[in-house]
Amino acid sequence: MLSVLRQIVQEVNEAQDLTEVLRIIVQRVSATMGVEACSVYLADRGHSHYLLAASVGFLEGVDGKVTIHFSEGLVGLVGEREEPINLDDAPNHPRYRYFPETGEERYQAFLGVPIIHQRKLVGILVVQQRQPRRFDEGEVAFLVTISAQLAGYIVSAQTAGMISDLPSDNIGTILHGIEGAPGIAIGTAVVVLTSDLDAVPDREIEDTAKEIQALDQALDLTRHDIERLKIRLDKKLLPEEQNLFDAYLSILDSPSIKQDIIAIIEEGHWAPWALRKIIKRQVHKFEAMEDLYLRERSADLLDLGRRVLNNLQSENLPIQSYPKDTILVGDEVSASALAEVPHGHLLGVVSAKGSANAHVAILARAIGIPAIMGVTGLPAHKLEGKKIIIDGYNGDVFTSPSKAMIADFYRLAVQEKELYAGLDELRELRAETPDGVRVGLCVNAGLVADIRPALQAGAEGVGLYRTEVPFMIRDRFPGEEEQYLIYRQLLESFAPKYVTVRTLDVGGDKSLPYFPVKEDNPYLGWRGIRITLDHPEIFLVQLRAMLRASAGLQNLRVLFPMISSISEVEESLRLLRQAHREVVDEGFDARFPETGVMIEVPSAVYQAAELIKRVDFLSVGSNDLTQYLLAVDRNNVHVANIYDSLHPAVIHALKLIVDAAHSQNKRVSICGEMAGEPVAVIVLLGLGFDMLSMNAYSIPRVKWIIRNFTIEKAQQLVKEVLGMHYAKEIRAHLEKALESAGLGGLVRAGR
Ligand code: PEP
Ligand code: MG
Repeated sequence: MLSVLRQIVQEVNEAQDLTEVLRIIVQRVSATMGVEACSVYLADRGHSHYLLAASVGFLEGVDGKVTIHFSEGLVGLVGEREEPINLDDAPNHPRYRYFPETGEERYQAFLGVPIIHQRKLVGILVVQQRQPRRFDEGEVAFLVTISAQLAGYIVSAQTAGMISDLPSDNIGTILHGIEGAPGIAIGTAVVVLTSDLDAVPDREIEDTAKEIQALDQALDLTRHDIERLKIRLDKKLLPEEQNLFDAYLSILDSPSIKQDIIAIIEEGHWAPWALRKIIKRQVHKFEAMEDLYLRERSADLLDLGRRVLNNLQSENLPIQSYPKDTILVGDEVSASALAEVPHGHLLGVVSAKGSANAHVAILARAIGIPAIMGVTGLPAHKLEGKKIIIDGYNGDVFTSPSKAMIADFYRLAVQEKELYAGLDELRELRAETPDGVRVGLCVNAGLVADIRPALQAGAEGVGLYRTEVPFMIRDRFPGEEEQYLIYRQLLESFAPKYVTVRTLDVGGDKSLPYFPVKEDNPYLGWRGIRITLDHPEIFLVQLRAMLRASAGLQNLRVLFPMISSISEVEESLRLLRQAHREVVDEGFDARFPETGVMIEVPSAVYQAAELIKRVDFLSVGSNDLTQYLLAVDRNNVHVANIYDSLHPAVIHALKLIVDAAHSQNKRVSICGEMAGEPVAVIVLLGLGFDMLSMNAYSIPRVKWIIRNFTIEKAQQLVKEVLGMHYAKEIRAHLEKALESAGLGGLVRAGR
């Protein structure tokens, strides 16, 4: 079965569109299972019916013409139960209903399985046979496996707008991701090029000779690269290991591969796309082979394909043109890809990988454009040049919007602009509730690009400076002097406002290229303070650089990340005192800074009252706190729907933390993403947070909320929310409260 499955997957991967995918599935399944009929129905929610999308064994020409209501027949029953239904004598089942158009009345045996993607029913896969027969366990399992694979194709076809190939045009083309940065944008998709073959978009070309020449050049360059590698490793490799390079070279010299690529170019496609098509086709062929050795060669071929692609792109990269309404789309859009778009041309970002905490999302928020991250099944390469709409409030991407939809979103975009223009006037006003309570509003920063918008936003200071960013963009640990210059620029830019500098917080998803840490479970591994305490030589250099940078300014605060026990705080303070003593002895006028502990893990929540006795303030890292309380990886798109900082458990934890700090008459702030999220802000106000720290772009709207929402109302809301059991219920309740306070425009597009 496994090899049959592999073959089907290979064929399906090469299919042009969903219609072809479905045709392959029904043909292969009926042949493999030895049944006379196989059919796929797609769910059309708009009409509450299933549409027969592909079949074998039915009458000619019925595909796309027959519909079955959600509550009708055995197909409807499979959908209702969401489990396989296996009948040897289907016509005798009370739910049996036959559809004369299909000619299926001749069939007795019926096996139907639901096609489900992330809990959502997207269709039904059915096999039927004339002879009564009860399908055995292996056959049911086979069909379930095929259906699980098929689900992903159906969803990505919907999102690519391919489903309109089918006669029904009512299947949505909305793609859901994670809200990376708020706002809406209507623009043209520009696909970010990477060395990932899967991400190469199709582009039409006119000058085929130029593309073929580029291909020749790239193949030559790759041949040289490999020969160079071979010579370099000559002495270190056994003869059989050297064979690998010869194998690479012989693939490169194979005239058939080159001819196949050229044939695709001659059909009018650019060379990278032609390369992608042929390499993928060959890779799938290898993957489907029985022989393990040959199967593993598919990885070599893929590697070779990437090398050629790299050379093709570096030699022949067309000057990327960015239209005035560019929306960058890619499998993994990087911060540098974003930086390449000319000023004023970038309207938004859509990335298949990454989360709201990815750098590109942080950067998008800093410059005030919407970003949608972690978009499952994003068919990036098919979107090149297409008009798309992105809604950063809901994390939606509309890949084939209708004219009416575009008009609607334009109206919302105009309203949004007006709304934000109005908020600008708040800059000089105080963040104070109508009943007189002041709340500190600070910015989160980590890039030099963050400094200017932070200053412009009218923040009281920096509530979180993520020092790992300068560490990430180097190829070794930055030295004390390098760090000193960065921190000095930062502290000087904000003085006399204070700057909370967090000590190095790497590990988990934040890795340093020159300090690789391989762990099975990195989020529960060596991260944050655990690394720096294990490496006092790195920690002390950083602390000394910060303290020296604060000389004469005295606006430094030091924050320790990922604290999970009291001893970690004590040890960190000991090292800070040592660094301070040294710096003072060297003649720097550096005051001992205020210190804070980040509350990001459950153990710190329960020890908050003890932790605060040792420092000046607590700062809640709600991104990690949510991750650890709910046991949900903050970057994993498969569980992104259950990652919610408004989960009742998180709100109860926040209350414990605030109460612990206040019981010792100390301050407590929050610097996770929820601090800039309008619905969360009213809860944080009511809970009594003294300071909220967020990206610069969120400051005006959070200030607007604070100036329009009384503490009394916020406290009442907290009481109500603490009695609720579901995150959804809490969110809806808070949205309603914002709406009735006239602040609804901040949680959705438009006024
Ligand atoms: C947090 O965890 O909420 C936080 C602010 O830290 P980071 O996002 O950098 O992990
Ligand atoms: Mg954190």
